[in-house]
Formats: sequence, C-alpha cells, structure tokens
Amino acid sequence: MTQSKQYILALDQGTTSSRAILFNQSGQPVGMAQKDFKQYFPQSGWVEHYPTEIWTSQSSVILELIAETEISPKQIAGMGITNQRETTILWDRETGKPLYNAIVWQDRRTSVYCNELKSKGLGEKIKAKTGLVIDAYFSATKIKWILDHVEGAREKARQGKVCFGTVDSWLVWKLTKGETHITDITNASRTMLFNIHEREWDKELLSLFDIPESILPEVKSSSEVYCKTAGDVLSVKIPIAGIAGDQQAALFGQLCTESGMAKTTYGTGCFLVMNTGEKPVDSQNQLLTTIAWEIKGKVKYALEGSVFIGGAAIQWLRDGLKIIHNAKESEFLAQKVDDNGGIYFVPALTGLGAPYWDQDARGAFFGITRGTTQAHFARAALEAIAFQVYDVLHAMEKDAGGKTTEMRVDGGASANNFLMQFQSDLVRSDIRRPKITETTALGAAFLAGLAVGYWESEATLQQLWEEDACFRPEKTPEEVAEKLHFWHKAVERSKSWEES
Ligand code: ADP
Repeated sequence: MTQSKQYILALDQGTTSSRAILFNQSGQPVGMAQKDFKQYFPQSGWVEHYPTEIWTSQSSVILELIAETEISPKQIAGMGITNQRETTILWDRETGKPLYNAIVWQDRRTSVYCNELKSKGLGEKIKAKTGLVIDAYFSATKIKWILDHVEGAREKARQGKVCFGTVDSWLVWKLTKGETHITDITNASRTMLFNIHEREWDKELLSLFDIPESILPEVKSSSEVYCKTAGDVLSVKIPIAGIAGDQQAALFGQLCTESGMAKTTYGTGCFLVMNTGEKPVDSQNQLLTTIAWEIKGKVKYALEGSVFIGGAAIQWLRDGLKIIHNAKESEFLAQKVDDNGGIYFVPALTGLGAPYWDQDARGAFFGITRGTTQAHFARAALEAIAFQVYDVLHAMEKDAGGKTTEMRVDGGASANNFLMQFQSDLVRSDIRRPKITETTALGAAFLAGLAVGYWESEATLQQLWEEDACFRPEKTPEEVAEKLHFWHKAVERSKSWEES
C-alpha cells in the first residue's frame, strides 16, 4: 500500500468475536482481522464475557490488521466503533477494573424482575419513554443486578467511583486510557434508561431502577470527533469519530438513509430495521422504537423487529434432519421441486416472536402427504424464513403507515438467491443485495469518515453503495395471497402447543 493513502478503521465488536476492518475511500474493505473470544455460562440462562477479553481481542486485531496490511497508523484518518448492543459493563472509575463480568444481551437472569415490572403495569410508561418493551435483554436491569449483587458496588457507585458502559463505552474508555466516558445515542437508546423523545437519561427511570446518574456515560451523536486514542494504543493518536450499535450501523452501512427504507440481516435470526425518519413511531405490534442515528444534530428514528429462527432453520436441516451437508445446498435441494407441494413449516423452535409473541408455540410441518420429499422440507424451511420476515415487515408497515420503499439485505442467508426471490415475491417490492455485505462495519466506518471529512456527505456515500443483485417480484398477487393464507393458517395451528 502506498504511504499517502488514507483509510478508515472500523472496530466491529460482536457477541462472539472482535473484528477490525480497514476501508478505503470507495468503501471497499482492504483488510480484516478477527478474533473469537470466550463465552461464559455460569448458570442456566446466564451469559457473560470477560471485559478484559473483549478489550484484548479488540486491541489485538487492530495491531494484527495494521501488521498484515502494512499500513502506517498515520494513514488512518479516523476510527468508527460498532458493537453488540445492551451488553452491560460496570467498572471502577479510578482503577479501570471491571466490578463484574460483562452481562451479555442474551442473559435472562433479570427476567423474573422484568415480569414483576410488567405486572405492576409499568410497560406502557417505559415504552412511551424508551420505545422498548420491558425485557431482561436491555441494560437497565443488568446494571441494577450488578449494583445489587456485587459487594460494595452500590456504595462505590454512590460515591461516584463507578462507570457504566455498553461495549462501545468500554472500548472508548480503554482506547483513551480512561480519559473519555461516553456512549452514542443509538447505544443509549437500548439501555431502557434513555428517553428517546427528550434525548436524555430519564431521571424517573433511574430512580425506578435505583441507578445513580453519576455512573452513566455522556451521550454523544453517532458521528463526531469524540476524542483521540491514547498515544500508546497505536503510535499515533487516531480520532474516534463514529459509534453506533450493530443493527443501526448496518442500517447506515446499507445507506437506508431515507424514511421508508429498510434492511434485513439474515443471520441465525433475522433482524429488520426500518428508517422512519425524524419522528419516532409508536408500535402497536410490539416492535421496538429506537434511534437510528444522530448526525450533525439531526436524529433519525427506526422501527426494529426480529425473527428468532432464520438461518437457524437451515442449520437444523443440516444438523437435526441431516438432509443437507451445508447451508448452501438448501438452495439446490429446494429447487429440485417446482413448488412447495403444499408443505408449510412453522419454525417456532423457540416459540414465536414478532408479531405473534407466543412462547408456547412449537415448530411444525403441515400438509405432508405421501408425495412429500426432502426437497419439499428444504423449500418449506427457506420459505418459512421469508414468511416470517414478511410478517415483521408487514407489522412495521402498519405501524409506520406506509409501504417500505426498498429493502436491502445482508447476512449469511442473504446469499441464497431462491430465498431472496421468494422474499421479493412476498413483500412485493425490490430486494437489493449489495456487493459489500460487511454492512455493520461499513456503517461504523461511514459514520467516522463523515465526521473527519474523509467522505464529504451522505450524498457522497450513496454513490458508494453497489448492487450485487436485485430481486423483483414475479408472482401474481393472487399466488402470494394463497401462500400467505396457508402460512397464516399453519402459524395459527402451531400456537399454544406447549401447556405451560
Ligand atoms: P450470524 O452472524 O448470526 O452467525 P451469519 O450472517 O454468519 O449469521 O449467517 C449464518 C446463517 O446463515 C446460518 O444460520 C446459516 O444456516 C445461514 N446460511 C448461510 N448460507 C446460507 C445459504 N446459502 N442459504 C441459506 N442459509 C444460509
């Protein structure tokens, strides 16, 4: 690489690995380093990370990337951070030592407490302020748990000696050697302590959860020069200039910058986020209202919904049913038959999420006859992913009061052309898959690059989005209506199977 070229460094701190990716001015990744780190499951339903492992894995991939690409740190114009959201870390403000392990977003230890809050009728109030449905997933009850259970933690917090942060805050703290305690507005909006309308920490909620305000980070926009890395992290001080939680970063990386644009990430689960513009939309379908980003003083909001079993249905075909050897094969097998043969699969393997919310639903195949083959099962499984995404998107459209203008896709299963075509048929709009599917890291890079002037404007970024494939609806509305009729009939029959 030539010395003169400048790059943006994106840190993508995920649930199972830390990655560092370097992007050039065309938005192309020019180098990537990744390191997995350990997951700890101290009790059933508990999930923890070691904060020090999050940091060492992240800092080591930065160094590895620089060594591999042979760039000089001087060539890094700015750094953006995207992170697993909601995961909660409390540390000592003086020593920088964590008070407890990071409690990961998946951790369910506070679910009984959350149910108590719900039964006290606090759901509406919390939703009105934060846009969130009361759940153990979000940071608030995890913070409370640490303050309540770690000896001396509450007292220390009262004395102003404790910092709370989601993973972005923790990384910035470490990158600046304890100089800077901040978070960005998207991460703040996932704590269940942040008022997304007033855009500030909510005093009433802090008091409800008994959390002292002094532990909270300062909330910043998603794109501005917050600070520089400390001198000994890299040989030069690099501006940290962009932060967003992973789903929001992916929405920005997909350049869904206009109201009505949506992105779906087809991973283990499917994650949908729709840009709803400058106004938060109150969901009537238990979707989450969240902040998409704040750039140059302008806040954009989003609706978010997820499907529990997405690509996981294909993993199950591979590992459970053993009818495919790898995920890719599902596309080939599904197309061995001309249609689904009347087979519908409801992948309620862990209950049903949005918009059904039935934890007692269980998975089921319907319509099996003597003519049913493995190929029908594979086809039904792929179609089920698309049906579920359709249902969430449909709920979003109802909430937002308008049709999605365009859906952009990423994640492992978005590589499946059969699935993407079927998705387009169902939602009756174009599905666009970009060439660069590292959208989460790219979003963080874009946010940082905008702030340091590496890219001039959102309009400049728009020109960087390159299409790999576009899937256009081919089926008639009647054909789609018939399929949806049977799908919804199947969903109804799979509900309330467990008798809990
Ligand atoms: P995650 O980040 O959740 O681990 P990825 O984005 O890496 O997920 O995607 C992996 C998931 O995508 C797996 O569940 C896998 O079954 C599914 N998948 C990968 N490739 C395909 C494919 N060609 N067709 C269908 N599903 C696929």
